[in-house]
Amino acid sequence: MYKWNVLQLHEFLSFNPKLRIAEFCDECVVLEGEYDFKAQMRGYEVIAKTFSLKVIFPRAYPRKLPSVIDTSDFFPRDSKYHTYKDGSFCLGSDLKIKSILFRDQTASAFFRKIVDPFLYAVTYRITHNEFPFGELEHGEDGLIDDYEKLFEVKGKASVLKALEALGKRKREANKLACPCNCGLRLGRCDYRFFINKFRDIDRRRWFRSHLVERFTPMEKPKKKTCKAMKSAKKQMR
Ligand SMILES: [Zn+2]
Repeated sequence: MYKWNVLQLHEFLSFNPKLRIAEFCDECVVLEGEYDFKAQMRGYEVIAKTFSLKVIFPRAYPRKLPSVIDTSDFFPRDSKYHTYKDGSFCLGSDLKIKSILFRDQTASAFFRKIVDPFLYAVTYRITHNEFPFGELEHGEDGLIDDYEKLFEVKGKASVLKALEALGKRKREANKLACPCNCGLRLGRCDYRFFINKFRDIDRRRWFRSHLVERFTPMEKPKKKTCKAMKSAKKQMR
């Protein structure tokens, strides 16, 4: 079970002594207990609170993402608070989490970069009835927000183009319109060097199924002639 060495649990638990290992086997590592949290976002108040959490690192970690569950009833089970019915948190888009874990797979990094910002934002939402940095979008809109930042593009169409490119071999992807909206094919734009870095994070197959499972296809813009045609038809009657 040396594979769990990447978590560096010893270090993490020494800083968080109220969390304990509830399960440790080939299939998963489960931490459970209290998490003493104290953080401040720039320009906002300090939030200090003890949360009751359960954290599950699945076998295929970090390819498969950990889940974090509220074992108290502090977080309302409501999408407004990004908490599912079973108390697990919606921590953000898969690719954002994967790209963070790609660089650092320790439990400490997972908490510092993913769990802590979530706990801060949602606790702030519970006490002030608003998020510190404006509304966190849910579902597809939330994904698009995340991926615009990650891919450094604007708009859903560009996000989908970037994911589509990552689902294809480089040679095929180069023939697609560039997600950066330069008007060139990807193979002609320097953006390809940027987007191709994401290929290290997961396989083409993952990007393909992620695109299909999590996004609705773009609606084709309605042709302008439609209205004109309709009124023309009316007049002919
Ligand atoms: Zn471009």
